[in-house]
Amino acid sequence: MKDCIFCKIVNNEIPAEKVYEDDDILAFEDINPKAPVHILLIPKQHFASLNEIPKDQKEILSHLMLTARKIASEKKIGKKGYRIVLNTGKDSGQEVFHIHLHLFGGRRMTWPPG
Ligand code: AMP
Ligand code: ZN
Repeated sequence: MKDCIFCKIVNNEIPAEKVYEDDDILAFEDINPKAPVHILLIPKQHFASLNEIPKDQKEILSHLMLTARKIASEKKIGKKGYRIVLNTGKDSGQEVFHIHLHLFGGRRMTWPPG
């Protein structure tokens, strides 16, 4: 989608520190990390948020989640623990309207989230 920063990363129009890529999804380092491990996972296809994922494409969600699990294991935080966040809409704090999972780890997380 034109003017979407994450679509530009998918299309290699702007750089990113990629950590995983296949035909359907991409994972890359967050540019402004909030934890020692902070990776974003996105579908290559543009969907603004969880609200826009069609029911017939629900597999993309499990693919993102299980890839986050795999990356957590590779980054050696799989056993200590990690947090996956999916902000949806303005009240959640979503700023980039191309659906993305945050994978956080490497420090003790607080609860409840802000
Ligand atoms: P959210 O508030 O859930 O929409 O999170 C958007 C995230 O995207 C933030 O953590 C930003 O630091 C991150 N971000 C924005 N632009 C870039 C970029 N060009 N490369 C990597 N991460 C980015
Ligand atoms: Zn996009």
